[in-house]
Amino acid sequence: MKNIFTLLLISTSLLFGQIDIREIFENKSEVYFKFEIIDRSELNILTNIISIDNVVNGKTVYAYANINEFEEFLKLNYDFEILPNPSSLIVPDMSSNLEDITAWDVYPTYDAYVNLMNQFQTNYPQICKIVDAGNTVQGRKILFVKISDNVEQREAEPQFMYTSSMHGDELTGYVLMLRLIDSLLTSYGNDARITNMINNAEIWINPLANPDGTYRSGNNTVSGATRYNFNNYDLNRNFPDPVYGVNANQQIEVTRFRTIQEANNFSLIANFHGGAEVVNYPWDTWANTGTNSRIHADQTWYQYISHLYADTCQTYSPSGYMSGFDDGTTNGGDWYVIHGGRQDYTNWYRHGREVTIEISNTKLPPASQLPSFWEYNKRSFLNYIEHIFYGINGIVTDTAGNPLRAKITIISHDYDSSEVYSDGVTGFYTRMIQPGNYTLKFQSPGFFDFITDQIQIANYNSSVTVNVQMVPTAPIPVELVSFTANVNKNDVELNWTTATETNNRGFEIQRSVIPNGVRNLVWEVVGFLNGNGTTTEPMNYSFIDKNLSAGIYTYRLKQIDLDGGYKYSGEVEVTIESPAYFSLEQNYPNPFNPSTVISWQSPVSGWQTIKLFDILGREVETIVDGYYDAGFHSTLYIANSSLPSGVYFYQLKAGEYSDIKKMILMR
Ligand SMILES: [Zn+2]
Repeated sequence: MKNIFTLLLISTSLLFGQIDIREIFENKSEVYFKFEIIDRSELNILTNIISIDNVVNGKTVYAYANINEFEEFLKLNYDFEILPNPSSLIVPDMSSNLEDITAWDVYPTYDAYVNLMNQFQTNYPQICKIVDAGNTVQGRKILFVKISDNVEQREAEPQFMYTSSMHGDELTGYVLMLRLIDSLLTSYGNDARITNMINNAEIWINPLANPDGTYRSGNNTVSGATRYNFNNYDLNRNFPDPVYGVNANQQIEVTRFRTIQEANNFSLIANFHGGAEVVNYPWDTWANTGTNSRIHADQTWYQYISHLYADTCQTYSPSGYMSGFDDGTTNGGDWYVIHGGRQDYTNWYRHGREVTIEISNTKLPPASQLPSFWEYNKRSFLNYIEHIFYGINGIVTDTAGNPLRAKITIISHDYDSSEVYSDGVTGFYTRMIQPGNYTLKFQSPGFFDFITDQIQIANYNSSVTVNVQMVPTAPIPVELVSFTANVNKNDVELNWTTATETNNRGFEIQRSVIPNGVRNLVWEVVGFLNGNGTTTEPMNYSFIDKNLSAGIYTYRLKQIDLDGGYKYSGEVEVTIESPAYFSLEQNYPNPFNPSTVISWQSPVSGWQTIKLFDILGREVETIVDGYYDAGFHSTLYIANSSLPSGVYFYQLKAGEYSDIKKMILMR
């Protein structure tokens, strides 16, 4: 009796009412189905259980599930209808012949696809390079072509990526991306616009992100293609998620993409899908309206580029294409929330920009329709790439010109990971942005923050280059025991002590001014002292920077060594105050022959004169006659050889102020 009871339990676990899961999944790894919801809030639970593919009119849900997911779904007791898998609806035209394939009205076999990718590199080795991102679960290849001039090098250029068909049964983008590669390569040198793009950007294109899904039935057909990968995971629910973090069951295909992205600094990406016709912008994790909503800091810019893509398609297609939703665009979460999508991974974790482009309502259209979809989209493909040149861009380096990875934040604009980073290899950054006035803050560990002046972006197609040199907050080199600065009126005396000395060392004295409290990042060289030769004893150095105007000054030492290496000292900051009152100082030396220094100070700027009189009050000559800033001043007076020894008087006049002092010339 007990045995029979156990057997019954086992069989009912696969039976829900009259539903037999084993029957539904017979000869299938995933099912496609639809059902109705009453309230959109149901989607927030459903999206964690099954892979929602579309939500029509806010109530009809189309979805995929593997057997485990479907079992969970059945527990929710929805009435559902199993649909034929989209890749089973037609018999796709296939070819393994490169000549046929490059007519672009046929689906390539897997081997032909790999051959064609290699052919691109063979035919255009100067501007096209295959990047093999690694194998899939079943050992197929995830391939990119990188298209750029000097393709073997990583240059200070924006990096762009197109990737298609991570859902293995959504294949319009697959063939269109192959055609785009061909079009870019054949246009290089012929078409000025495309040549410019290739010269000034790195364009990475991955036509097929989930080859195991696409060739689920074997390498010679895409019939029977699946949405999921070979392990029956939806790759577009498998990326690190802003809410849930890294997926515990991260699939190897996702790992491959993450490796490529983490080794590069892609600023702009689009990933192509099918099953709808719409440009889907972030976030997918959150809707942009209602409770628990979040709006991307660049939503206005995203809406602009999404509309531009869709509008251009509409212009070159029959009415109805790419015109649903909000005129061919939608916020991802507003359509339906998903977790683990690659779009949000790029935005949240990589600080890049990525949209999801649903390119055809039919996931696997007859191959004869592919040239039409090319016509509808080919201009939008190029327009979208070109955004990478707009906005604010430049190169971040340290003071020696070495490229630097820095965090770049638009003040009072960025939040939720919308700040961008410069590339650590090249220093290049780009910050695409809607028109407006922006102040950028650059931050990098070990360097002072740098804040730009206000930068104006006049329109969506304008670009402003802002190169930034960041100043290290370098520790005092071990050789330096101390480094101090003392102010004496308008002179700054620097003193430093070394622990040991080596030959052919010198110290460059550098100064940076902070007028009005705003740091001027230009370091000016104000002096150089040779080292004192080889010794293990401490050595003292002193340098006086003279006659400075009021302001805040920062000094550092650049220790230059024999081998051409150098180190910076820490920095010392001093303030030269404006004097509080006028004062004329006693000349020095006094008595003098024939030269002496006359110093004075003025609390305000203005015309100032110093005249010399003899003992009878007769004017002898004018020593100073000019406009002077508020501050400490001095002048070297050299008595003319005809001037006899004797007592003289020098008088300072500045506005209402006047003072007079006696000096003695002793020949
Ligand atoms: Zn998709």
